[in-house]
Amino acid sequence: MKVPIVEIFSSFQGEGLWIGRRQIFVRFAGCNLSCDYCDIASSQSTDSGILMSVDEVVEKIKGLKTSDLHSISFTGGEPLLYAEFINEMVNKLTDAGTDKIYNTKSNKIDVKIMIETNGTLPDLLANIDKIDCVSLDIKLKEQISQNWKDEIFENELMSIKSLIKLKKRFYCKLVVFPSTELATLEKIGKELSNVFNLYNTIDKDININNYNKNNHNTRIPIVIQPVSPVDQWKNQSNLLFKFSETIGQYVEVLTIPQIHRFLNIE
Ligand code: SF4
Repeated sequence: MKVPIVEIFSSFQGEGLWIGRRQIFVRFAGCNLSCDYCDIASSQSTDSGILMSVDEVVEKIKGLKTSDLHSISFTGGEPLLYAEFINEMVNKLTDAGTDKIYNTKSNKIDVKIMIETNGTLPDLLANIDKIDCVSLDIKLKEQISQNWKDEIFENELMSIKSLIKLKKRFYCKLVVFPSTELATLEKIGKELSNVFNLYNTIDKDININNYNKNNHNTRIPIVIQPVSPVDQWKNQSNLLFKFSETIGQYVEVLTIPQIHRFLNIE
């Protein structure tokens, strides 16, 4: 099997809860959505990638290993379009199901697997064998102006439920704009809180992210990501406090911009 890959490269994770971690990124071509703000538009179409086999990708990853490697991030586009390929690749990279990756001299280091997904493919997400962290987007209607369907949010909620059931570590990422409305964020905060609480009542032992056990709503963080470039927030940064306070009524919230943009790296 060969799938379209845009690029494989080593850099720092620039977003979310694993920010600053050294990662090898595997960027797949092709996406089932078409967001207005997509900063990687070249990976929306499968035509933008070159076809690579599992063995070719594995060899490339091995060649990029560095002493500070923390994890491999499967990103896109939408990586879950290639869930079967990812499972096969991770099996080849890891040592009999442990968290080890071989380097060229055959000694091993710990490595973790991250998936960066738009969250709209819950069945495929549930089929990924090994995940150490999922970055799951919550899309806003105004961000997909041409092709919005209510099922996008419904599927994101299904993905969240699935990850909670499977006790997988994850966080939700919400890209905001100066034009984002507080009412929209309030609705999302309430819905997420309801989902998190639903599962708290089913299994009180679920503590997938090791957050404060006494406050159920704090266990799954929402990362507010101000859209890049950040100069559009000049004189408007007070909005970010309002966004955080609105979501923070319901769930744990952090506000983190994309740091790789500041460093001018991929
Ligand atoms: S889900 Fe991600 S890759 Fe796909 S169009 Fe939206 S921003 Fe781009």
